[in-house]
Amino acid sequence: MLELSDSADGLNLAANLLLLFLVVVYLALVYWTYSDARRRIDDAMLVGCAVAAAIIFPFVGVIVYTIVRPPEFLEDVRERELEMQAAEARLAQLSYLACPHCSFEVKEDWLRCPSCTRKLRDPCTNCAKPLDPEWRLCPYCETDVAGASTPRRRRRRGTTGEQSTSERTAVDS
Ligand SMILES: [Zn+2]
Ligand SMILES: [Zn+2]
Repeated sequence: MLELSDSADGLNLAANLLLLFLVVVYLALVYWTYSDARRRIDDAMLVGCAVAAAIIFPFVGVIVYTIVRPPEFLEDVRERELEMQAAEARLAQLSYLACPHCSFEVKEDWLRCPSCTRKLRDPCTNCAKPLDPEWRLCPYCETDVAGASTPRRRRRRGTTGEQSTSERTAVDS
């Protein structure tokens, strides 16, 4: 009789311990869902939904959350976006700020490359702002660049070294 009540007590204790264990795991999972959802979801409302699901449906809610949660942490998404922006800025710098003749780093408003001394841009005949060779019109003062192309060639012909090439382009056009 004594032994029987002892084993009953033991069973009771084991059941209580198991229940306690399950409750602790349940609470830990709810907390984990909250902290994980906060790192992955930007919307406080959706974070609340995930935590509510973990509370209302013990264990099952957490399993469902791990299936449908966003695959990436917000931090990683932001970091990747920053890296993309930095890469784009580097690319833009490479294509816009390098001398086409010697790849020396040049500024957008420079008229001549300081490294190979070749012409990068011509100044506008009206406002003297540096113009891109592909522009047909000065974007600063609206002067027609196409009309100014003839004196530009004449000026180039005056400089030695570029004489033959500029004459050839004059014949081509
Ligand atoms: Zn150069
Ligand atoms: Zn101009």
